[in-house]
Amino acid sequence: MIFRELFSDNKILEAIESFGYEELTEIQEKVIPSILESKDILACSKTGSGKTAAYILPIIKSLSENFTDGIRAVIICPTREICLQIEEQIAGLAYYYEKISYISIYGGNDQDSFVKQKNALSKGVNIVVATPGRLLSHMALGYINYEKLQFLVLDEADEMLDMGFYEDIMKVLTYLPSRQTLLFSATMPQKIKVLAEKILKEPIIIDLNKSKPADEINQLAYLVYPDNKLKLLFYVLNNYQYKRAIVFASTKTSAGNIYKKLKESKYNVIAIDSSYNQLQRIETIRKFKTRENIILVSTNLLSRGVDIEDVELIINYEIPEKVEDYVHRIGRTARAGKTGLAISLIQPSEFSYFQRIEKFMNKTVEKFSCPEEIGNSPVYEIVRKSKQNYKRRSFKRKNQ
Ligand code: AMP
Repeated sequence: MIFRELFSDNKILEAIESFGYEELTEIQEKVIPSILESKDILACSKTGSGKTAAYILPIIKSLSENFTDGIRAVIICPTREICLQIEEQIAGLAYYYEKISYISIYGGNDQDSFVKQKNALSKGVNIVVATPGRLLSHMALGYINYEKLQFLVLDEADEMLDMGFYEDIMKVLTYLPSRQTLLFSATMPQKIKVLAEKILKEPIIIDLNKSKPADEINQLAYLVYPDNKLKLLFYVLNNYQYKRAIVFASTKTSAGNIYKKLKESKYNVIAIDSSYNQLQRIETIRKFKTRENIILVSTNLLSRGVDIEDVELIINYEIPEKVEDYVHRIGRTARAGKTGLAISLIQPSEFSYFQRIEKFMNKTVEKFSCPEEIGNSPVYEIVRKSKQNYKRRSFKRKNQ
């Protein structure tokens, strides 16, 4: 789904574009329409899945369409670092809306910051991102007016409960008027369900944890320069065992090229992409299932829902930008309790995608240099979050 289907104002679309987001992530696709319909939400979604933008975008849309002064949204999260990350996304996504104001409120800083926070809160800053303890300290001093409050978000709720914030959260809630409440948690233990029952009204429940890759899938990666990728693909196909392998590419053009090169080199290969009609698709999958062809080159088209047994090897020739596409792709192997291997060929421009994938899975995938005959390998560098996906620019910090 593309953002234009849900958002029509060019100001928000331009901000989304400058972050480099092309399509909604899975969590965004699942929660944004319900948030826009004013529903309460209980969403189970990991860091890195795009959940922050999933709630910020509808909040910005609502504020921009019906602007008033005053506190309209309170976002409560466990730590100062997360506060700052959320604030950074608000700064970017609300960039073209001059009037929308926001602030992050967390403890452990100096008196000056406390006074700045106090001033913004007393003036009625629109969006407050806060850790529970510091928010309560301000609330105790009596200058916060929640009359205009429309949204309450609890982000990383499971972590907040683990950190012992339950009492603080409940205390904050007693001061809030009725509003739309959005509860996001990386996991869904019993205590989150209990909290949800207490604070949500007829919530829409979305659990993306099922999308985590199975433990039976062994994952590894090679670091490679783009010019050597094809040679590396041949190497992988020649040196790993499989009865059937799927090679995933990110575009139709790339899938076409890979297919052509493999075919020229006499691999037993077939390809599928979105330009195939239903009959062609069925026939292609039949040939692959019956092992008439043992290597299938595909775009993401095939990554979801197609149950082909005994695919022992998945190769990500290109790393998908969306975390869930990676999970779905590698989920084509290790089905029905069997084991399987997923090998990703990562070039430097894809490092940031892969880092997001690892963060989402909460797992580090073992990475290898290319074998000598293929050539040098790039060094795997951590790409700083602020450099990922969007143009750097100076954000205005408002109301401080
Ligand atoms: P989260 O911690 O779940 O909010 O995920 C944040 C990461 O997801 C950041 O790296 C964002 O830039 C990225 N992200 C959010 N929405 C999208 C999108 N629609 N497409 C690509 N990346 C996104």
